[in-house]
Amino acid sequence: MSNLPILIAGGGIGGLSVALALALKGRRVRVLEKAPEFGEIGYGIQMGPNVSRMLDRLGILKALEPHSVYPDALILVDALDNREITRIALGRAFLERYQYRYFVIHRRDLHGEILAACRQREEITLEASRELTGFEERGDSVIVRCENGSEYEGAALVGADGLWSPTRAAIVADGAPRVAGHVTYRGVVPTGEIIDRSHLDSMTIWAGPNLHLVQYRLRGGAVMNNVATVSSRRFRRGEKEFGGPDELDEVLSRAAPQVRDMLRYISRDRNWVLHDREPVTNWTRGRATLLGDAAHPTLQYLAQGANMAIEDGVVLAEKVAAAGSDYNRAFLAYQGSRMTRTARVVIGSRFFGEYLHVDGGARELRNELARKRDPENSWEVDWLYRGIEVDGRL
Ligand SMILES: Cc1cc2nc3c(=O)[nH]c(=O)nc-3n(C[C@H](O)[C@H](O)[C@H](O)COP(=O)(O)OP(=O)(O)OC[C@H]3O[C@@H](n4cnc5c(N)ncnc54)[C@H](O)[C@@H]3O)c2cc1C
Repeated sequence: MSNLPILIAGGGIGGLSVALALALKGRRVRVLEKAPEFGEIGYGIQMGPNVSRMLDRLGILKALEPHSVYPDALILVDALDNREITRIALGRAFLERYQYRYFVIHRRDLHGEILAACRQREEITLEASRELTGFEERGDSVIVRCENGSEYEGAALVGADGLWSPTRAAIVADGAPRVAGHVTYRGVVPTGEIIDRSHLDSMTIWAGPNLHLVQYRLRGGAVMNNVATVSSRRFRRGEKEFGGPDELDEVLSRAAPQVRDMLRYISRDRNWVLHDREPVTNWTRGRATLLGDAAHPTLQYLAQGANMAIEDGVVLAEKVAAAGSDYNRAFLAYQGSRMTRTARVVIGSRFFGEYLHVDGGARELRNELARKRDPENSWEVDWLYRGIEVDGRL
């Protein structure tokens, strides 16, 4: 087997997870990260029981526990009247069904623990300020070129370089990602500043016409993570400028006063224009493949983009270990076992986004049907939360 390391472009949650998973299988890896430092943005992220299972396999679930918050329910509230529509209980029955817990965590804490675990492995080399600009296969190896002129030779390449992945541009060549017309604002504030304290212990979504808000606590409950998303009418009308703070105010103007109040926790300085891509049937070429957002970027409505990236990493390492030095075989087996699950997340997230943002009769229908749900039934996410088999076991 080649002595060369496996090259990974991108040191986000996906890139570091696959680095750790490969190291645990005894493979040498070199992570090339474009940013001057390895890091993440300062907001929260939701982790399903499917990914808790993967983090356990990677040996870092325990290290994450002190940073994690375990809400008692996932609650859906109507933003127009502030009345609860439905909930998924996260207690004993949930744990019995899935064996692992749902938790929320600050992205920096999650990324920081995966990074710390990577730093402890001698198989892993981490290099910042290395932006992949191109790659080519040369016999039994891959040559990666970086923006600063450096070149690296590896046994294979995993492009974990995110939504705008240049690795994807070379392999799939399907142009820019799709603009969904949804724009997200975020804010993290001390929990003491929260006025309406009726949802402190849950992960709560307020759904309204062309709008939804999300709230959950982080860091032992000390801070509250707040997210507001606008589904932009201006975008649908074909306007170039859309989703600005004025449109946020406009969609929130119909919300109940307690819901409108949540705007004070949201920063207007920065927003995220949301994208995804049509699922594709191939993201592998020879000894190069893609992972995470580079392979199957999704809207956030099932809160599974990073979950999928981590699952990808564990599965990819399993297939590499099984295929020896036949990386193309390993990568085709990996993408084969990930394709429909990740496509279902992409398509399901679009559907769930529509479901949250409806108005009029559709809103009445949504609420009526959702109110009939049994809170012990995890509903649309059951197939996700049940998790995946790796190395022949759940
Ligand atoms: C509002 C919002 C809420 C979300 N909530 C959730 C949630 O609750 N749960 C969940 O699971 N997911 C959630 N997601 C999705 C999640 O954030 C992403 O799916 C996840 O971060 C993807 O990880 P990644 O490692 O594949 O890509 P990224 O996090 O984008 O990492 C890519 C890395 O590659 C680096 N890079 C880029 N180009 C190059 C290059 N040329 N060379 C080298 N390095 C490069 C970047 O600097 C970066 O470090 C949410 C997304 C949004 C927008």
